[in-house]
Formats: sequence, C-alpha cells, structure tokens
Amino acid sequence: MKGVLTLLPEHYPFELVPLPYPYDALEPYIDAETVMIHHDKHLKAYVDNLNKTLSAYPKYQLWTLKKLITSICQLPVEVQIPVKNNAGGVYNHNLYFSIMNKPNNTKPSENLLILIENAFGSLERFKTNFKNAALNQFGSGYAWLVIDTYGQLSIMSSSNQDTPLMQNVHPLILIDVWEHAYYLKYQNRRAEYIDNWWNVLDWDVVSRNYSDFKQQIW
Ligand code: MN
Repeated sequence: MKGVLTLLPEHYPFELVPLPYPYDALEPYIDAETVMIHHDKHLKAYVDNLNKTLSAYPKYQLWTLKKLITSICQLPVEVQIPVKNNAGGVYNHNLYFSIMNKPNNTKPSENLLILIENAFGSLERFKTNFKNAALNQFGSGYAWLVIDTYGQLSIMSSSNQDTPLMQNVHPLILIDVWEHAYYLKYQNRRAEYIDNWWNVLDWDVVSRNYSDFKQQIW
C-alpha cells in the first residue's frame, strides 16, 4: 500500500488509490459487492468532488491532503466545507482500505502492544472500548485509535468525514461506521459488523504505521 501511495501525486489532481487486494479479499466478513461500491463509487466520488472543488483554486492545488485538512481555515470560506468533507473522505477511506487485508491472525507489534496495554489495560479492553466508540457514534462517522505527539494513545469517534488530523493527533486505526460500509451484509447490525471487522484488520500495517510515526516524532 505504501508503495502504491508514494507513486501517486500527493496533491491536486488527486487520484483514486487502487485497492491493495481484490474486491472479495475480505470475505466472508465484508462482502465483495460492499467493497466494490465503497471503493469504486463512494471513495471515487470524494476524489472527484475534491478535484472539482480545487479546480478553480490554483493557489491550493499543490497542497497535500494532510495540509488541506489541517489548514481548512486558511482556505476561502466558500470552499472550506466542501474541502473538509471531500479531503476528509479521501483521507479517511485511503486509511480504512489500507489497514484491512484478507482474514488474518496478525497481532500488534511488541512495542504497540505494550502501549495499548498501558493505555487500556489489555488488548481485549481496547477492543471493547473501541467497539463502544464505534457503536455509540450516532449516525455516520468513524471510531479511531489515535496517538499524540507524546506517544499517548486514545480512542475517539467523529462524525461525517471529520478526521482527528484536525486535532493534531495521528490516526493509527479507524473503522468506517457509515451504513454504506456494512448495510448490504449486516443491515442494521452494526455491532456484528464491528465484531467481524477485527478479522480483516491487518495489525502488521497498523504496527508499521505506528513505528513510522514514532520515527518522525522522536
Ligand atoms: Mn465509507
């Protein structure tokens, strides 16, 4: 995934990052049709709408996704909301698709596990708290595991396409709890989707994101 991302331009015109696995890779936990619509239609629409929004504003066309999201208030007021929604939509989905993989038994790296145990007591308690954040997010949004610049982990939830990047923390894990992420297979059973989702979370990718972040900070 990282290899793919680095080949794509980091600024306007943004491109649809290809899925790093086939549509059916997440079966039986997330069905192929959901993955196809989610990636090829929903994510594509965020990419297209972000490009459309920025097309009339050459001044911001060299800004990266992260810069756009963290500097919203420097943008002309009429594009602040479309950029927040669409740049957030692109960032959040790129991260979501990148941290999943075919059903696997990966575990957090030793360092990350220690951090999780220090913050939440145990990996199981982290999963319970994370699930509660995802379940209690009213309406569309995400639950997150984030790390701050002091290396402290916390769980957050967010609405719509908001991202914790706006709060100066670095996302390690997110789960999409918009209905489009699970409705075809799970209908209103969000809890079941969340429970099953752990089977396709790739802790190797998450652990690598954590060690990359640690290297930047320390
Ligand atoms: Mn989504």
